[in-house]
Parts: sequence; structure tokens; C-alpha cells
Amino acid sequence: HNYTKNDIRKMAKDHNVSFLRLMFTDLFGTEKDVEVPVSQLENVLNNKIMFDGSSIEGFVRIEESDMYLHPDLSTWMIFPWSPDRGRIARIICDVYTMDGKPFMGDPRNNLKRVLKDMKRSHFTSLDIGPEPEFFLFKRDRDGKPTLQPNDSISYFDLAPADTGAICRRDMVLALEDIGFNVEAAHHEVSPGQHEIDFKYSDALNTADNIQIFKLVVKAVAKKHNLYATFMPKPITGINGSGMHINMSLFQHHKNVFYDPKGKLGLSKIAYYFLGGILKHARGFTAIGDPIVNSYKRLVPGYEAPVYIAWSPSNRSPLVRIPSSRGIQTRLELRSADPTANPYMAFAGVLEAGLDGLRNKIVPPAGINRNIYRMDAQERIADHIYNLPDNLRDAITALKHDPIMKRALGTKLFNTFITAKTFEFNSYRLQVSAWELKHYLKKY
Ligand code: GLN
Ligand code: MG
Ligand code: MG
Ligand code: MG
Repeated sequence: HNYTKNDIRKMAKDHNVSFLRLMFTDLFGTEKDVEVPVSQLENVLNNKIMFDGSSIEGFVRIEESDMYLHPDLSTWMIFPWSPDRGRIARIICDVYTMDGKPFMGDPRNNLKRVLKDMKRSHFTSLDIGPEPEFFLFKRDRDGKPTLQPNDSISYFDLAPADTGAICRRDMVLALEDIGFNVEAAHHEVSPGQHEIDFKYSDALNTADNIQIFKLVVKAVAKKHNLYATFMPKPITGINGSGMHINMSLFQHHKNVFYDPKGKLGLSKIAYYFLGGILKHARGFTAIGDPIVNSYKRLVPGYEAPVYIAWSPSNRSPLVRIPSSRGIQTRLELRSADPTANPYMAFAGVLEAGLDGLRNKIVPPAGINRNIYRMDAQERIADHIYNLPDNLRDAITALKHDPIMKRALGTKLFNTFITAKTFEFNSYRLQVSAWELKHYLKKY
């Protein structure tokens, strides 16, 4: 919606809004907010709300800590579940510095910058449809999350009194109440694991949607006395949670990945974009799979990708081309997980694809065999390389990828690498349960 300031004033009044949640996303993909009473509305509308940036991780040094929130009026939304007396509305904001410039450590500002670049290459939008997966766990008597799934069923299964399905339906209703167009919601392979897919939209909108989606999923789970987690691999030995990224590039209303005369119905643009995605797959991994635990998911045997390859039919590779064509033609990148900062992830895939277009990067041949049945030598013969298998290697690959630096911008790129290096080192210092189990008594 293209709301004006007056529209916002009117909606706030007509709907008895009492509180405004001014939201933005930090480097780690965590949604932050500053809540103000509606009496502050004029200050909000005039970009006057200030906050201390030094308290937000990955933002600023202490000596330059004042930051301003500039509301994006189009993101105004009243939470339907807020109480009648004291309704709450949210507005997503962009972070600005004291001298009135967009702060480039703000991932949303950065995605806007990358999208503007894309428009200079005459594309109108990058449309993205995400497939976030998550687990529903029981809570203990104190309300703390356990690792016990709330059911023991599997993919598309139906069970009588399936409390997970009831909870998931409630999530879908809450999402539809705030304007989501939910296309599919189903049980996933692991016990307690679910997926909710909502309709694609342009990259910025989809990133905004993912952020509110996570909030809704967690809030509804809590109402059902369950805990929803987007942690990629909470349990060893069963499938983890990914967030596949379906993408298509548009020139006005034309999906430029589609060409009925092209090989497999795909255009040259689609192949070059794919070439870029594959070329930068290693550098992108730290962005799409940003936490230590992400790499416990990217292992053979659990429907998560390990090797850099694409396929028009097979489900195991990094990039899959779903069979629909025409306006629905898309590439599905399967490495990312729901802990990725969506603003950064979409900037990353877009720059990778655009690099493919600029430099006419031809992707290697598609693989129709099951890569997991090939041995190392067969893979090398087919030029199939690995994704990084831990966060440190992923950070190294990111550091050496100038296109990913271009995607994040110098500021975000540097703070991200510093923060993630720190995170990995903190993990590396820990003595784990696995080590104690295997070594304590043996040596
Ligand atoms: N859960 C799998 C993953 O980790 C995906 C399963 C699927 O959607 N086919 O990516
Ligand atoms: Mg799916
Ligand atoms: Mg799935
Ligand atoms: Mg998928």
C-alpha cells in the first residue's frame, strides 16, 4: 500500500491504535523494535525517533551511536491479535545516521541499494518465494522449550488429534489476517517439523514478510504451549530445517527466466543467472547459512545440499529448477536456512545472478544422477565441488568473493565477517558433549 502520512494518521485514529512498534533488522537477522505510544506519531512520521545504535550488535561504535528511524509508510500494519483497547501497529523503518544518510550497516537499506542497481540493468524486480521450515517442540512445566517434538509423524502424514496441525492452521489464519497469501502448509519429514509457504513477492517485500512470519509463528506456537524454533539442526540424525529460496527475474510483467524456445524452456538469462549463483555458491554460504549449527544441516543424507550442482529433475542438488514454466519459471536455491538474514541473503543471490549475466557465466551441465551415490572421483570428473562444511571455511570463502562484498557493501561485509569470526571462535573454545562421551573414559 502506498500510504500517505494522512492515511496513517487516520488509520491510527479510526482503529484506536495505542502503540507503534518501529521495527528493523540487525546484522544477525534478529528483528528489533522500538515501541512508542501513539502520542509520538508525529515524531515518527517526521523521522524524529532516535535510538542508541551502540546497543544493537553490529551497528556502530559508541562515539557515533545516535541513529534515526525513518518509517517506510507502506509497511504500516495493525496487529489483528492486539487487544481492542490498546491496539498495536507496526511500521518497518530504515536506519539513518545523524547527518541524514541511510546507514549502510542496516541490511534493509543495503538491499534497497542492490535493488536500485538491478533496476539500472533494466530489470524491474527479483521475485522471491521462500519455503521456511521449523520445529514445534513441547515446553516443560516452567514453559522452557524441550527437544521433544509435539508429534511423531512425518511428511504429509495425517494423525488423529494432531496438535501440530491444529497449531499450524492457527498460524496460517493469523498470517492471512495480516495479509499473507499462504500457498501451502504441511508437515515435514522430521517429527514435529513443519513448513509454511507463502506467495512470492519482490525481494524487499518478501524479506519484510519473513521477519514478521517468524514472529507470528513463534507467538502462535506459544499460545498452544509449544515452542517454534528456526534453528537449522536442533536434533542429530534427522532432517534439519532449511529455507529454500525460489527466485525469478522480471522485466515489467515478463518473467525473463522463461523462454519457450530455450533448452528446457529456460532463457539465456536464466542460464547465466544460474551460472552466477553456482559460481558464488561457496562465497554465499556464510550469508545463507550464517550460524555454527547451519553446518550440521548441510551434511549428506538429510535432503540438504552438500555439493555445488544443479538439476532440472533431481531434488538433491544445490539448485533445482521446479517444473512449472511461464510466469512461474524459477530457480530454487536449497542451501539457505531460516537463520539467514533475508535482506542480506537476497542481496547475495541477486548480485551472484547479476554477475552471471554481466559476465555471461555458463553453468556446468545439469546433473540428473543422484550425486550422493557418486564417489569423489566421479564428482571431480563432473566438476562437482563441495559447499563449505563449517562456518570458518564459509567465512573464508566469503572473504575471497568480491561479488559477495559488492552484495553486502563494505560496511556490512566487514562487520559481518568480524562478528561471525568471533562467533566461530567462541564455539571452537567449547568442550562439547561429543568429546566428553568419546574421550573422557577412553584416555
Ligand atoms: N528439510 C530439508 C532441508 O534441510 C528440505 C526438505 C524438503 O523440503 N524437501 O533443506
Ligand atoms: Mg517445500
Ligand atoms: Mg520442505
Ligand atoms: Mg523446496
